[in-house]
Amino acid sequence: MNLRPSLSSRVLTISALALTTLIAPTALKATPNKSPLVHVIMTVDWEGRNLNPSNIAAMQQLRQDYPTLPILHYLNAAYYFKSGANAEQTTDTIRSTLLPIDQLGLHIHGWQSLFTAAGVTFRNQPNWNPGGKPLTDAECASDCGHSIPIRAYSEAELSQVIKFSIDTLSSHGFGRAQHFRAGGWMLSQRVSNALTANGIVSDSSAVPAEFLHARLYNYPLYQWAVQTWTGITQTSQPYLLTTKHGALLEVPDNGCLADYMSGAQMLTVLKANLAEAQASGEERIVVVGFHQETADDWLPHIRDFLSGAFALNANGQVVSFGAMPTQL
Ligand SMILES: [Zn+2]
Repeated sequence: MNLRPSLSSRVLTISALALTTLIAPTALKATPNKSPLVHVIMTVDWEGRNLNPSNIAAMQQLRQDYPTLPILHYLNAAYYFKSGANAEQTTDTIRSTLLPIDQLGLHIHGWQSLFTAAGVTFRNQPNWNPGGKPLTDAECASDCGHSIPIRAYSEAELSQVIKFSIDTLSSHGFGRAQHFRAGGWMLSQRVSNALTANGIVSDSSAVPAEFLHARLYNYPLYQWAVQTWTGITQTSQPYLLTTKHGALLEVPDNGCLADYMSGAQMLTVLKANLAEAQASGEERIVVVGFHQETADDWLPHIRDFLSGAFALNANGQVVSFGAMPTQL
């Protein structure tokens, strides 16, 4: 089944503005329409841990330096339920990193604060950190649960937390999320079912586990990623997952996230997809990203990647930065 045409036309439409403004007109002229494209979707995971000024500032600076680069924000409702959180301030801080060209999605980690606020009994295990022991009361003194895979919960509980998260973000002006990435890339059938039950149309949790090995080899999370995403590689393309409530579009995070990938490694992913696009004549999608909570540390990787991607365009190949599709 050739599903590329409808997908490419959708992404092309959305990314046209970014394409024309991100690359020099001469480069645009040098790339005839028949050239295969690689569509890059830039994402950011909002972990729900904190909103430290240094990371917010790093994101703001990126937006100033690349004002036509659209970003899909996988937002997290957990910030609103931290002890002492000021809702208005939280909203303003998140919003200070957004541009009108962005998409707003949803990211969920197993935070005790969030799950409790959603009316779900918190689980302190399994824990994906090294050792894998259940979280202790001391560890949970302020908040905890980032390292608890949400798929540990029942479908009904997940649906409750997803709905609660969507409603919370919506009530603060961030719209109703259609796109999702699971904390730790830990999707499951139960999570997928709960997502489509709540109107989510795409997920980007599939990841090439090999990219996680260098930093996470001694984490249970690494083994879980290997088992969950067997067969996912740096050139894996969107496909449909079956759920109880219809299909869920899985768009692999094939370029992983900046904490685990240098700019050069992300560029290697881009070039591998470009080579496949040229060989097949079909467009390819590359998903890359970073975390808000570590933006100050790792955005240099994203900047390196962006520089390299623009250099590819200067060489007459076409890379566009576009939005997450909603269907194949
Ligand atoms: Zn996360």
